[in-house]
Amino acid sequence: YISKLPDVGTTIFTVMGALAKKHHAINLAQGFPDFKMDKNLIDLVTSAMQNGHNQYAPMQGDLGLREAIAKKFDLLYATSYHPENEITITTGATQAIFSIISAFIKPNAEVIIFRPAYDCYEPAIALNGGKTVSVALESPNFKVDWNEVKSKINSRTKMMVINTPQNPIGTVFSEADMRQLQQITKGTDIIILSDEVYEHMVFDGEKHQSACLFPDLKSRSFIVASFGKTFHNTGWKMGYCCAPQPLMSELRKVHQFNVFSVNHPMQKALAAYLQNENRYLELSAFYQQKRDLFLSLIKDSRFKFTPSKGTYFQLLDYSGITQENDVDFAKRLTVDNKLTSIPISVFYDTKIESKMLRFCFAKKDETLKQAAEILNQI
Ligand code: PMP
Ligand code: GLN
Repeated sequence: YISKLPDVGTTIFTVMGALAKKHHAINLAQGFPDFKMDKNLIDLVTSAMQNGHNQYAPMQGDLGLREAIAKKFDLLYATSYHPENEITITTGATQAIFSIISAFIKPNAEVIIFRPAYDCYEPAIALNGGKTVSVALESPNFKVDWNEVKSKINSRTKMMVINTPQNPIGTVFSEADMRQLQQITKGTDIIILSDEVYEHMVFDGEKHQSACLFPDLKSRSFIVASFGKTFHNTGWKMGYCCAPQPLMSELRKVHQFNVFSVNHPMQKALAAYLQNENRYLELSAFYQQKRDLFLSLIKDSRFKFTPSKGTYFQLLDYSGITQENDVDFAKRLTVDNKLTSIPISVFYDTKIESKMLRFCFAKKDETLKQAAEILNQI
């Protein structure tokens, strides 16, 4: 057979997760909470099943859930998406991203992404015959040079993927960044895929800059979100995307033949939950506390850091400890020290000089303390 993805191996999240398990290491690699989700939401799934919602959900998603999402956009961003034709429920953010790229990217179309980039964008672009064009952001502050972005736009550029707050680096786009993006895409037919799965994890008083807040951007954007990040249940794989109706109707052409529809009882449960639940408004404070605890515990270690501005990830710079590459060092930390993280070089397409590992702080305080004890000994 001929491989369609000859250069793609197994995702780093699976590789490091398996290594952590094998060596009984504390796993701060893959991003997921080690504390419990809200039992009320679990009970709502049971109720939905008992109430008979065990057959296919509507293709677009449960209408009640789409209405709840529309309300949330109104409340948080004072903007409207029509529940009927501008919101679709997906199997996590991952399926939304895959389907959006499949709906719009033809062979030879170019898609601009900002590296280090989450690893599901590029294979989806490649499978559709598209070409990934990278803008590399560099440590320590990972600022975007918008002139460079502009220089990479040409008539083949059909999409740009942005991710604020950005995994794996924990940076956020400022309002000025969003205005630059709006300016350089004006007058083009470029679609923005705005991956906002960490919208409720933004620190130090900053505000999440959703693409839907900027009218010219909103008109060309898909906003992608994930319930898993917000309600501490990544294993549910529930998410959604929003876009103006002409874009959304193209997405649904793919979605209907990709999954058709998404887990029905969980949609019913989320719809009921969102009626009374707005704890996501406190999520930034919750995770900022975790970040601050983690960083205070390792402030005297040999690792250097700039506090994460968003996401539940913290980069640690180990250049003062060893000159090993980050993949080797992350593996050695797992095997010898029983602590697992994610090397970030794998999210670039070029060799990088910086020596950084990503640690997930969506963990019990106890877990963070155990991890810090190890880091302080290195
Ligand atoms: N985008 C980013 C930036 C992520 O970090 C993740 C979660 N790892 C996803 C998308 C996928 O989200 P989901 O688990 O809802 O598919
Ligand atoms: N988004 C999660 C992370 O960055 C991982 C999800 C996955 O395993 N694909 O850690």
